[in-house]
Amino acid sequence: MYRASKYLIEVPLDSERIIVYSTLTTSLIVLTRDEYEKVFVQHSFEDNETCDALHDMGMLVAEDESQEETLAELRRGVLNGDDGISGIMIAPTMDCNARCYYCFENGARRGTMSTETADAVADFIIEHCPGKKLYISWFGGEPLLVPGIIDRITYALKTAGIDVESTITTNGILLTDEIIRRFDDWGTYRVQISVDGIGDQYNKTKRLQGIEGDPFEKIVENIKRTLDSGISVHLRINYRSTNRKSIEEGFDFFNGKFGTYENLSLYGAPLDLPDEKGYSEFDESEGNLYLDVLKMSLDNGYEDDELNFRDGVSASEENNIVLGNLLLSPFPAPCMMINKWRFAVDDRGLLYKCQKHLGQERFSCGSVFEGIDANDCYRYFSTDELHDERCENCAIFPICHGGCNANRLMYGDKFACPPSKTIMPKLVMAYYRYLMDNQSREEESDESPE
Ligand code: SF4
Ligand code: SF4
Repeated sequence: MYRASKYLIEVPLDSERIIVYSTLTTSLIVLTRDEYEKVFVQHSFEDNETCDALHDMGMLVAEDESQEETLAELRRGVLNGDDGISGIMIAPTMDCNARCYYCFENGARRGTMSTETADAVADFIIEHCPGKKLYISWFGGEPLLVPGIIDRITYALKTAGIDVESTITTNGILLTDEIIRRFDDWGTYRVQISVDGIGDQYNKTKRLQGIEGDPFEKIVENIKRTLDSGISVHLRINYRSTNRKSIEEGFDFFNGKFGTYENLSLYGAPLDLPDEKGYSEFDESEGNLYLDVLKMSLDNGYEDDELNFRDGVSASEENNIVLGNLLLSPFPAPCMMINKWRFAVDDRGLLYKCQKHLGQERFSCGSVFEGIDANDCYRYFSTDELHDERCENCAIFPICHGGCNANRLMYGDKFACPPSKTIMPKLVMAYYRYLMDNQSREEESDESPE
């Protein structure tokens, strides 16, 4: 005997047919309304052939199976996956040369790491990195304000025999030739640059300090310089969820200018403004804009290799890129920060479970001086338990595993859901259309004469 999976998104295709998508396995099927009603509403499983096929796709679950347990097992895999630090986020400074209102007005700290703290960060990592391989995500504030601290920590780690690779999240205004030359030493393989609009809008939002000339012209030059160096660039265009003009102009501008670079990934990200609105409160037009922005990246061939990471039940990776860009890929955990050994470190050497908490001591869970403190905040992240019982029956669960713990802790349950929640049926429809277009293209090329 079967039961229906909880992890299905159903979308009417027309008056006769329904698309069913499994967020657990990424299988998609089109059923007639009769077929759908029989199996998923009346729970009649007499048609063995259909039901066995739906079972293979993860849409029906056998009596002795538990998809919840499969998902919990995936979370435990991430939670206990390491026996020491293999990845860490470091904010060598919380200071920044920009004054973006959404960060600055939140009263963010502005301290910079001392050389003593930098040495303590390196010592802490060396003590807890048995694998001798480390991924560092340099974050801030603006990490490129203090390249000397990055040098110092990297040098100490390498001297201790640790193989270091890194990424840098930056506003990009300090990406000079000299900085780019240091990437080799820092093991940097990717830079994420955030921009806010173009031209005057960029300048007004960023309010960059101490920059000679026009900051927007400078950032465009720096993006080109970084792309020319061959390093992977993730260019993120921040936008307000209601401002279609800004993201469309921004995307067109950067796509027109740099769209031929294969090392570019270009995408838009709605600003997370919890004081104004949670992601899960997007209205219809914000949801439509969000979908259009995702499609801009997809249609222009940009792949976000961070989104198409898939470690679920389905083995096929054929459509990973499109599933990733449409935010339909299952993930093994809410995020990698549930791992017992994952931390973010701020300028004072305090340890946190998420970059969103950097600089906010009340969320810290130890320090590089005193060691890890497995306190309430630590345990809130590093667990395979769920924090909100509504997640137990949510169809999106295999994608978000209970959502963002940092937002949940800071702003409450409703801020934990991913923004994709508001447009799930539209995302499934976009995926269906992509599959159909692909199929037609393949049929056309089969029919075309040799
Ligand atoms: S912001 Fe949320 S989802 Fe992202 S790393 Fe922090 S806890 Fe994880
Ligand atoms: S966090 Fe939100 S979207 Fe994710 S499972 Fe829970 S209720 Fe569903």
